[in-house]
Amino acid sequence: MNKSKIEWLQDRDGTPGSTWNPLRGKLGMWHCVKVSPGCAHCYAERLGRRFGSYPYEEGYDELATITDADLGPPFRWRKPRKVFVCSMSDLFLAVPATLNLIFAVMVLNWRHTFLVLTKRAGAMQAYMTATGVRESITDAARRHYGERAECDVHNLLYGEVKPGVFWPPRNVWLGVTAENHLMAYGRVPLLMKTPAEKRFVSCEPLLTDVLLGEYLHPSRHFRPGLDWVIAGGESGSEGRPMDPHWARTLRDECQQWGVPYFFKQWGAWAPPHVHRTNPTIPGPSTTIRHVCGSLEVVYRIRPGGASRELDGREWSEIPDEAEGWTEAKAAVTREGQKRA
Ligand code: SF4
Repeated sequence: MNKSKIEWLQDRDGTPGSTWNPLRGKLGMWHCVKVSPGCAHCYAERLGRRFGSYPYEEGYDELATITDADLGPPFRWRKPRKVFVCSMSDLFLAVPATLNLIFAVMVLNWRHTFLVLTKRAGAMQAYMTATGVRESITDAARRHYGERAECDVHNLLYGEVKPGVFWPPRNVWLGVTAENHLMAYGRVPLLMKTPAEKRFVSCEPLLTDVLLGEYLHPSRHFRPGLDWVIAGGESGSEGRPMDPHWARTLRDECQQWGVPYFFKQWGAWAPPHVHRTNPTIPGPSTTIRHVCGSLEVVYRIRPGGASRELDGREWSEIPDEAEGWTEAKAAVTREGQKRA
């Protein structure tokens, strides 16, 4: 079982989530192309390079045709769980034909909740609002898995079985990364115009103050508001400092509007009151202290050198599933077990 350590993928009962990476380059490894400041120290690229993959830049590789092996994991995971789609890439880098197939797999595996996080908010909105997208997904299921799958996907997307997945699929949550205010300004309005069961924003790595207030509550323009906000600092040897004030502002905004807030990590820098024993990295050539714009001082720490606390507690709030959805899934799962 592919268990992920990503904290925000865990269910309330502590069940870990999984990652699923159906996109890869023609050279066989994960592939993506950097698009914004949050990509500068891309974890996926760094990890991939250790295994011989190419830089996440234009011209080094291109996406390969998707195979059964790439699509297989969600079918094998019997137990329902949260699944982070394309943790090592960006799903909306793919062409619509590939997206249709991946969405077909997500619909067929409706017992899992799939979380898609993208920096390509325009491509996501275009795909999710395209005319005939449900038909295209149903057609992709037929061509890849046959008529039985076509029938299942059709029934689920059009709500002809219980629990119907419908459109947008009830088991797919869509989010964008907003690492600074400029990216939030460009991406979040596009997310708000994208139909999705749950819409979330990940402010990680948080590089400037990001204000989401106007999107956190239902308004004339955006109805309903955002469902979830995740924030965190940048980890790794090149991690950039996060001003604690930025994480607090987001938390306070979320609290004001009753939106779940998840503070994932401090990253490579943290204020002293959350340090674990002797966490700082000493050395004359290493900057170990940074005075933030809010005048709060953060110190460079070793990996795992700080707790996840922000102002005396951990913030691990997650949204509830759609009303009645958990019970409906459980009932169908029990029914299936009885028949088996
Ligand atoms: S979009 Fe994500 S996976 Fe792609 S380069 Fe940027 S940080 Fe890396």
